[in-house]
Amino acid sequence: MSDCIFCKIINGDFGTEFVYENDIAVVFKDINPQADTHLLVVPRKHVESLNEVDDENLLGKLMMTVKEVTSKLNIKSYRTIINTGKDAGQEVFHLHIHILSGGIKNGIN
Ligand code: AMP
Ligand code: ZN
Repeated sequence: MSDCIFCKIINGDFGTEFVYENDIAVVFKDINPQADTHLLVVPRKHVESLNEVDDENLLGKLMMTVKEVTSKLNIKSYRTIINTGKDAGQEVFHLHIHILSGGIKNGIN
């Protein structure tokens, strides 16, 4: 989607560094970290939120991406969060999984 910030990041518009990427997703650092390590796993395909997902394969691969990047970075203990909907704190309406590790602050958005 042309006005979606995460689509722009995936497109390379801001030169955001990807700490990991594969066929279906990119992973980059959250700009406003809520833990010592705060990453976002973002599918290349624009999907607004978990509510709009109709592909179980995509969800499986996104969770495998969490495993791949944490393994690569040797992160053994972490929390994953998916905010779904405005009232739950979703601010960017392009599905993403937060990965938080170390010094996790209370609550995320
Ligand atoms: P959520 O509230 O679950 O939608 O999370 C959106 C997250 O995206 C927030 O934690 C923001 O800090 C993060 N964010 C917004 N813009 C950027 C950006 N340009 N680069 C990296 N992270 C961003
Ligand atoms: Zn998008």
